[in-house]
Amino acid sequence: MAFQKICVYPEPVLSRKAEDITNIDGQVHTLAADMVETMYAASGIGLAAPQVGVSRRLIVVDPGKEEKSGLITLVNPVVVSGEGHNAIDEGCLSVPDFTAEVPRHAEILVRGITLDEREVELNAGGLLAIVLQHEIDHLNGILFIDRISPLKRDIYLRKLKKKQRQT
Ligand SMILES: [Zn+2]
Repeated sequence: MAFQKICVYPEPVLSRKAEDITNIDGQVHTLAADMVETMYAASGIGLAAPQVGVSRRLIVVDPGKEEKSGLITLVNPVVVSGEGHNAIDEGCLSVPDFTAEVPRHAEILVRGITLDEREVELNAGGLLAIVLQHEIDHLNGILFIDRISPLKRDIYLRKLKKKQRQT
């Protein structure tokens, strides 16, 4: 296992639609293990493969307080349905130093495949539902800053430009 560098906006891989995984081989297992290690090392609660530069449909999430208590790894996850509304202050390892409230479904049904090739359905609410929506968005090339008002996005982009000028 190895810690992977996390891609940061505006790296193009983050805006690309990721490829379906058709074969859960050793490479996918290694990628998943690397992503788990990277997520915990960065104190994140979710990570999608494009964030480590791999444009494939794989996510790891763990919104639990104890490390590895709530770890979920999903291949080709999709949000089948969603209900209600919820919005919390979201951040992203690929969008450093910025948070914003993002409108999401409060409860969702997610379908995906586990690393041992079982098809699973997951009913999620609360923080888990939000993290799953956030990570599955990554697989479709969508960042949370794409889901906020243009005004708020502008604040972020201006901050980013200022930071880039300074470095
Ligand atoms: Zn993210």
